[in-house]
Amino acid sequence: MSDLPPLPADRPPRPPRAETREIVELKQLRLAQPELASAIDMQLALVEMQRRVQGRVPLPRIAIEPEWARAQQAAGRPLVRFADIPLEWSDFRLTLRQTADILLRFEALERADHARIVALGREGNALEPLVSAWYNASSGVEPGADPRTREMPDAPAGLEQVLVLAMRPFLARCAEALTPQVDLASWNHGHCPICGWEADFAVITPGADRRLFCGRCVAQWSFAPLTCPFCANDDRALITSFATRDGRYRVYACDVCRRYLKAYDARHAQRQVMVAVDTIATLPLDAAAMQRGYTG
Ligand SMILES: [Zn+2]
Ligand SMILES: [Zn+2]
Repeated sequence: MSDLPPLPADRPPRPPRAETREIVELKQLRLAQPELASAIDMQLALVEMQRRVQGRVPLPRIAIEPEWARAQQAAGRPLVRFADIPLEWSDFRLTLRQTADILLRFEALERADHARIVALGREGNALEPLVSAWYNASSGVEPGADPRTREMPDAPAGLEQVLVLAMRPFLARCAEALTPQVDLASWNHGHCPICGWEADFAVITPGADRRLFCGRCVAQWSFAPLTCPFCANDDRALITSFATRDGRYRVYACDVCRRYLKAYDARHAQRQVMVAVDTIATLPLDAAAMQRGYTG
């Protein structure tokens, strides 16, 4: 054993950080549903890491020209341009690495792909243009960019998942900065008004409205309760909806594009929606939806 210098007497060890409600809820969920333990542990690791990163990312000062914002919204384009994101590259590299490590540890990423993603993170010349091109294509923020083309030729499998998770703390700060200064009431698209990514969860409010949550920046916006956010199908006869036995969660599946979205039903709930918890608590619903031939 090496000799460690003694801790200075006037600096007591730091107390552990207070656990957030999400972390408390995830730990309770692990006791209630031990079969989800591995998914919950991965989520705990991701949530704790993202919280640490988000705590050190400055709140960006994004100046939004009202006329420009109106034009973007009218065209169905989001508000955050790549240059607005408070991306500090050394911090992003670290976040990318830690995200890939967590996914590897829980077998959500193949070892060979992990190695390639980590190598990519080290190469400054390769990473920066790749991330900006991917963001521009997947957000559709610039006119002319098709939000649905976001191909990364020769990219390792799983890279997009790692990028989505690693960008989250940086984009979440953009959503935090913009939400109070822009009016999203007229936004009626299925994709995110802040970063252009698609919804990956929803909440049914006590007033029976539906709000969608972005799968990348976690911004939320109102959306018609029975319209498919992926293909805009609004024929109720072609939306299949089913709930868990306790009525807490619901799935909306589209019989046109065959995709589905899960929701937390806050109409009879004890607590508010918590996306990081509820997306994991509903993993059995994903299995049920996939069994019926729908994709996430
Ligand atoms: Zn978003
Ligand atoms: Zn659809």
